[in-house]
Amino acid sequence: MPGLIARIDDIADALGATATRLHAMAQHRAQLDTAFGNIEGAVALWDGEERLVMANRRLHELFGLPPEAIVAGMRFRTFIDLAIEHGHLEGPGPEDVYTRRCALVRRGKALTFDIALTSGRVVQVSYHPQESGGWLATYEDVTERQRAQAQVAFLAHHDPLTRLANRVLFHLKLGEVLARVGDVAVLYLDLDRFKEVNDTLGHTIGDTLLRFAATRLGNCFRQSDTVARLGGDEFAVILSPGTRDVAVAAAQHAIDILGRPFDVEGHEITVGTSIGIAVAPQQGKDSETLLRHADMALYAAKADGRGTFCVFEQIMNDRLLARHALEGDLRTAIAKNELRLFYQPLVNTRTGIVSGFEALMRWHHPQRGLIAPADFIPVAEATRLIVPLGTWSIRQACIDLARLPTHLRMAVNLSPVQFRNKELVRTVRDALTASGIPAGRLELEVTESTLMKDVDSAVAILDELRSLGVRIAMDDFGTGYSSLSYLRHFPFDKIKIDKSFVDDIGQRRGADAIIRAVTGIADSLGIETVAEGVESPEQYQRVVQEGCDQVQGYLFSRAVGVAALPDVIRRIDGNGVSGRHGRPRHDGPPFPSGVLRQKP
Ligand code: C2E
Ligand code: CA
Ligand code: CA
Repeated sequence: MPGLIARIDDIADALGATATRLHAMAQHRAQLDTAFGNIEGAVALWDGEERLVMANRRLHELFGLPPEAIVAGMRFRTFIDLAIEHGHLEGPGPEDVYTRRCALVRRGKALTFDIALTSGRVVQVSYHPQESGGWLATYEDVTERQRAQAQVAFLAHHDPLTRLANRVLFHLKLGEVLARVGDVAVLYLDLDRFKEVNDTLGHTIGDTLLRFAATRLGNCFRQSDTVARLGGDEFAVILSPGTRDVAVAAAQHAIDILGRPFDVEGHEITVGTSIGIAVAPQQGKDSETLLRHADMALYAAKADGRGTFCVFEQIMNDRLLARHALEGDLRTAIAKNELRLFYQPLVNTRTGIVSGFEALMRWHHPQRGLIAPADFIPVAEATRLIVPLGTWSIRQACIDLARLPTHLRMAVNLSPVQFRNKELVRTVRDALTASGIPAGRLELEVTESTLMKDVDSAVAILDELRSLGVRIAMDDFGTGYSSLSYLRHFPFDKIKIDKSFVDDIGQRRGADAIIRAVTGIADSLGIETVAEGVESPEQYQRVVQEGCDQVQGYLFSRAVGVAALPDVIRRIDGNGVSGRHGRPRHDGPPFPSGVLRQKP
């Protein structure tokens, strides 16, 4: 029966095929098992009847279930119940969770969502619907990843040291409140003596101090305000709502709070703060402008003497613009040689003749004419342009002095900024060499502010200069806080008594007594004295009476160009009372008053 045999063969074939298929299926299953087992996260395959086809070990680990609880064929609902029973699935209740999950699955689209476990961990769940009607679920513990992302997001918007908002977040928030609220004010704060603390006590203490200051600041404003650290020792606060009155009160409060001493690792530190205020919308409608204006007001507050606040005014902006313009012009001026040195004589009160000159800078501006140093030296100092300018003035003054009679000296002013430049001593030495004048004819004038910053290093430089043989004079004596104390630090050759004391003669009680005291001290220390700014014969008479060795002032001459020097010397010396010995303490001016009227 060939037909039967054929059928048997067919059956055998079919059975063989089935066996092969079954074998293939078993192999497939084993492969799936291996694959499932090796998957990093938890995986579960559910069929169209919501029964578990297979799952890997990570599934019960992740949900903290006993391993035997997860078995093939278990219902999805049972799995939900188990997970909730073990307290690992947050949710309103098993029924609700089950219904919502089923609804998600039935959408038939792949989707991913996060669930929070009561342990605080976060699990990311993905459902991948299968053609069979079931779905493949993967579960991944994303707690660490989310924490790291949150940390990155936090750091993008916060300062790691103080945990306050950073500049980026400050501008975002300010932009946001400006769009929402009408009255917004910005405070810009800067700790007054922070750099000193950092320099003397070290960065660790500096950092702790910043954190303490940040905490105080954080506690001193309202919930609706934002405190930010913009960098270094600079902080800013958004006051919203913030009228001018609110801002002023808040600034005063912050000054009080930050003015109290801090205890940092056993050091009692008092820093204090200065604050600039800008109020929207009058003083700026966008965050950049408001902060810039608050910064300008801060600058003004610091100029007012620290520990205070200033509210922005338009004039501050105008001044800054003018300063920028001046700075640009000044750079051009240096390149184009528009700067000149003028010379003002110093007259010996004993002989009545010129003993030397002080070099004073002038700027011959092509449009604005002669500009006085008070208008450009501060800009030159702020921009450090004073360094090349100062170098030039030392060289030029020496060159001009070389052409004057050898008994005359030349005084050149030094800015504190030049003291922070290592080249100063070399500059002076080179100027002496280039001009060939003996060092003793050059006198360098320094003010108290040169010594104030860092006495030791300033004195070290003065010692070096002195060792070259140049003389050192203390300028504007009596205007600072501790002029007298600086006399102990350095043996000055000359003291220039400030013009303000000469002005006070005959106006204010005690002016003469102060001058007398200074010349007395100077005499006993072997230091020469000069009275600055002598304008009238009366003033001259008094300063001579009080013992000043030299005078300088409009009474004799203003500062003049180098070409006019021979005339000035001839005029003053020609009228001088030469050959006299001892001080003419009770004498009148050394030349007839007729000459005195010919002020240049
Ligand atoms: P200073 O060193 O105290 O110079 C004396 C100033 O008083 C000069 O002003 C001088 O013209 C002025 N003066 C002299 N006698 C009289 C007087 O009888 N009455 C009045 N009202 N003023 C008198 P100037 O030239 O305008 O210089 C101002 C300041 O600018 C100087 O004060 C000095 O601090 C600074 N300065 C000038 N030239 C230079 C320079 O080359 N380098 C540096 N670093 N500073 C300079
Ligand atoms: Ca001077
Ligand atoms: Ca002076």
